[in-house]
Amino acid sequence: MQNIVLFGPPGAGKGTQSQKLIAQYHLVHLSTGDLLRAQITEGTTLGLKAKKLMDEGLLVPDEVVIGMIGDALGKNQQAAGFIFDGFPRTVAQAASLDQLLAEHNTQVACMIALEVDEQELVKRLLERGKTSGRPDDQDESKIRRRVTIYNTETAQVAGYYAAQHKFHALNGIGDIDGIFAQICTLIDQHKPAQAEAPVAAIREVKA
Ligand code: AMP
Repeated sequence: MQNIVLFGPPGAGKGTQSQKLIAQYHLVHLSTGDLLRAQITEGTTLGLKAKKLMDEGLLVPDEVVIGMIGDALGKNQQAAGFIFDGFPRTVAQAASLDQLLAEHNTQVACMIALEVDEQELVKRLLERGKTSGRPDDQDESKIRRRVTIYNTETAQVAGYYAAQHKFHALNGIGDIDGIFAQICTLIDQHKPAQAEAPVAAIREVKA
């Protein structure tokens, strides 16, 4: 499996680049924002609780998003790998992701951060808000709150992966295809040396 964490503040281009990466590497895209919005659309209790926080630009509790990622990993055991988008957003989430992946006999290959300054992020998100319908994209104070939370809580996650020598940062401003090419170069450098055996195969050998 090849598991990539795509990192960066809201509006950095993670969603756009994820779509291109899915086509190139056939990985399963796991965006906790998308998973939460699906819960809101379905009108679940979890979705209703999360909506209040999301609309204000605040983080949803760790255990909620960790639980969703755990479920998604369980449902996609045959995947070639995952692109994590918008997760992990706290150090506790990063530690849980390591643990969950270890249970599936795999690990994070690398984290790639897209760096974009606040002025550009606000511009991009207000523009996206005209069509996304997302309340958190339509109000400048909420956008700035999301960026502040990224800078205070989420940015620490970069250090977590840097300590594992897995962190890389790229300039997220510029030509989309040019940024994509740089991401691909990094991913190719982090290809697992040899294919990790699927969990089922390991069990078979032990039996
Ligand atoms: P996103 O689509 O990644 O911009 O996420 C939208 C909103 O969903 C965020 O502002 C948070 O309220 C919530 N959210 C998404 N992912 C996470 C996460 N990993 N941890 C906590 N909250 C999250």
